[in-house]
Amino acid sequence: MEFNSSRIEEFKDIWVFCEQRHGQMMNTNFELISEGRKLADERGSKLIGVILGHNIAHLAKELGGYGADKVIICDDENLKEYTTDAYTKVFCDVVMDKKPEVVLIGASNIGRDLAPRCAARLHTGLTADCTHLDIDMNNYVDFIETSSTLDLSKTKFKMEDTNLKMTRPAFGGHLMATIICPRFRPCMSTVRPGVMTKGEFSEEKAKACEVEIYPVSIDENDLQTKVLEVVKEAKHMVDLIGAEIIVSVGRGISKDIEKGVQLAKELADAFGGGVVGGSRAVVDSGWLSADHQVGQTGKTVHPKVYVALGISGAIQHKAGMQDSELIIAVNKDEKAPIFDCADFGISGDLFKIVPMMIDSIKEV
Ligand code: FAD
Repeated sequence: MEFNSSRIEEFKDIWVFCEQRHGQMMNTNFELISEGRKLADERGSKLIGVILGHNIAHLAKELGGYGADKVIICDDENLKEYTTDAYTKVFCDVVMDKKPEVVLIGASNIGRDLAPRCAARLHTGLTADCTHLDIDMNNYVDFIETSSTLDLSKTKFKMEDTNLKMTRPAFGGHLMATIICPRFRPCMSTVRPGVMTKGEFSEEKAKACEVEIYPVSIDENDLQTKVLEVVKEAKHMVDLIGAEIIVSVGRGISKDIEKGVQLAKELADAFGGGVVGGSRAVVDSGWLSADHQVGQTGKTVHPKVYVALGISGAIQHKAGMQDSELIIAVNKDEKAPIFDCADFGISGDLFKIVPMMIDSIKEV
């Protein structure tokens, strides 16, 4: 494949794969575009958003408003609903054609499916589930020679060591691993939703954003799957990532599960429009559905207020909530690790304390 013999210097620009569902942008796109803007400014390169779908051209300016210099639109009827093979083919085609240096993808269900498939097809590496990104421009390496069988470059070349440093939790959250992809391009990374900060929307930037319609070529006969119908789940999913106030419950509610969850709901309501989250212990026990789980294998959140009720504060739970603006913890064990990251800690029985909290908030 011609792509494999490309020289590393040919790869330019920072790309964000921007996920849309039924013409609606996912919030993670704006977080990644805002983060990508910082990386592109540091690197001195362009930031480009790429959207796949059908009748989606109207979404481009929105990305521009958050800092994209340009948006590439891949529009085709076969891209209306996400399918692994159609999206992989089209996204890889554009990457191979335009050669971005960095590709960022949100670690949603779709992103987690698409990214490894594309990385394998592009013969590059992928760092999954990143929580921090950085550009390392300090080192210069002269005349690197690749000996890889993938043969990115058969010849010697001078490489500026401008690697993307991708950081993610490893070994069950016990350490943070910083990973680089020094010899292959693009550097690919999936990024956890909710960890990067969404910037301010600018009307001026939106107007200045360039839009390119990319000519998609898909032969329907090559597609192994076709979506015939989409049936929406009737269940209401909790939106933890967009929530400003989250009241989470842990195994500490085991004495009276129903009442514990009810108290959390009442406290969330008293704060004004809060939502209920939970630890993995609560989800594994079936007391709350999986979409409520906060933590390493659940959602990463940074609300204005995070209340932890009867949650011990295991490292895997903290990994998902410790960047909240204000943390309040209630736990009957005053040595519980959750108090280490709490701004306000109340030691005592949640079944007694939460009703008092609700009353006090209502009085204000
Ligand atoms: P416990 O640790 O059992 O804590 C219960 C707490 O409630 C205790 O501190 C106790 O003092 C307090 N308590 C009891 N009764 C009361 C009462 N009446 N009033 C007040 N306090 C009371 N966990 C997550 O949450 N999210 C994840 O995403 C996640 N991912 C994981 C990934 C891996 C690979 C692994 C190995 C583990 C993961 N875990 C995760 C599990 C994590 O290690 C803990 O087991 C879990 O967070 C514990 O949940 P908990 O705090 O509710 O329960």
